[in-house]
Amino acid sequence: MLRRYEKELSGWGNHPRAVCEVVEPFSVEDVKGGLTRTTIARGLGRSYADQALNSGGRVLLTGSLNLFLGFDDRRGVLRAEAGLSLEEVLRVFVPRGWFPPITPGTKYVTLGGMFASDVHGKNHHREGSVSNFVRSVRLLTPRGEVLDLTPEDPLFWATAGGMGLTGVILEVEMEMRPIQTSYIRYRSFRVRNIDEMLAVFDENDPKYTYSVAWIDCLSSGRNMGRGVVMFGEHARLEELPEKLRKRPLFFVERFKVRFPFQAPSFLLNDLTMAVFNWLYYTTHPPYEGFVDYERFFYPLDAIDEWNKAYGRRGFIQFQFVVPERETLVGVLERIVKRGGGSFLAVLKRMGEQRGYLPFGIPGWTLALDFPIKSGLFEFLKPLMAEIVRKGGRFYLTKDALMDSGIFRDSYPDFPKWYELRRKADPEGILSSDLARRLGMV
Ligand SMILES: Cc1cc2nc3c(=O)[nH]c(=O)nc-3n(C[C@H](O)[C@H](O)[C@H](O)COP(=O)(O)OP(=O)(O)OC[C@H]3O[C@@H](n4cnc5c(N)ncnc54)[C@H](O)[C@@H]3O)c2cc1C
Repeated sequence: MLRRYEKELSGWGNHPRAVCEVVEPFSVEDVKGGLTRTTIARGLGRSYADQALNSGGRVLLTGSLNLFLGFDDRRGVLRAEAGLSLEEVLRVFVPRGWFPPITPGTKYVTLGGMFASDVHGKNHHREGSVSNFVRSVRLLTPRGEVLDLTPEDPLFWATAGGMGLTGVILEVEMEMRPIQTSYIRYRSFRVRNIDEMLAVFDENDPKYTYSVAWIDCLSSGRNMGRGVVMFGEHARLEELPEKLRKRPLFFVERFKVRFPFQAPSFLLNDLTMAVFNWLYYTTHPPYEGFVDYERFFYPLDAIDEWNKAYGRRGFIQFQFVVPERETLVGVLERIVKRGGGSFLAVLKRMGEQRGYLPFGIPGWTLALDFPIKSGLFEFLKPLMAEIVRKGGRFYLTKDALMDSGIFRDSYPDFPKWYELRRKADPEGILSSDLARRLGMV
């Protein structure tokens, strides 16, 4: 039984918005029945912009297709429906000693959404993106075929990071990581500028699986790039202090606060951002010890609907990867000089990534949130072109700004991806606002 209605939707950035026909399938037959006009699948809508929007077309919510289907505890392989959320995976598997191999900075994503964006975590430089751990996916193409795809199949790699445009992912089989405790052995450093920050990464990255840094984008001059660099490793049982060893494995149920209202746009100004950045910096002294996984991986999930803080006009996330550190520093300089920078500026190191539309290349990725204000796009677009000229690229699941030229220049295997997609969807049923903006369909 297919439920359908019209609704205005947006991604996590609340920009852009689009009126779509929403359908809620409850079975594979429903999904098949839903592919009769231009359609895009949507998980929990945590992509930032128009990735899971389809203006005037159909958006297929996968949330009801959320069953656990099996677990092979010898190989540590989980099989589940694609609408299952990462939160539910954590709830069931952490107490049993298993953790997702790759996790984005929020647990409110679906397995299908993770694969379709081929998400990365704080371990990309060592372990790559989620597709490295996916053993197979079951894909329904608009031709009505149900395909079990493995890494041997080119269509598997066109679907990883393929933004829902090769078919609807029905099931995902993913290798989990054994853990002994719910704790992360954690070490953080406060650094005074970008040179110190990169040096701390260089020194500590070989020692830890996970690393990430937060940058205060409002500090300039000698303090440009000051921030906090954090490293983590799943703690082994024998490493834990006695009192934590009594209950080493548990799902962290954190008390959540809800962002109370849609903030007026004037609330986010240079002053409030400076106060936030100063507070973050001063309340994060260097630390070495144990924190639970929730604090390390999902600090933002503690505030429900924090995206409302950016007001009705919303915000965009500008996430790019560049191969050279000089380019990173140059871009940061430009952003700091302009002012009006971002609450959250997150820096990670990246490594290789497979696929036809991979975001990851060896280098550095910086993610910045910008509230939408006049003049923003005029500032960012030339910067975007320059980043691409220097061999960088932008993350499809966050992007709101690229055009087809920038996209094709930075994703050189797009023509190969396009051929695979054309075979899977010859009539062009699968489409999204992102796909049309970038000329992917
Ligand atoms: C606070 C926050 C932190 C984040 N941190 C990270 C991070 O560290 N690393 C990272 O890589 N990403 C990160 N993201 C982005 C997020 O992980 C991805 O956008 C992810 O794809 C969202 O999953 P979703 O289920 O909400 O998918 P949606 O946003 O609903 O959809 C995303 C894309 O996947 C497609 N899709 C979804 N389900 C299916 C399906 N069943 N079949 C086919 N296609 C499907 C959609 O069509 C769309 O193109 C973050 C997002 C937020 C809000």
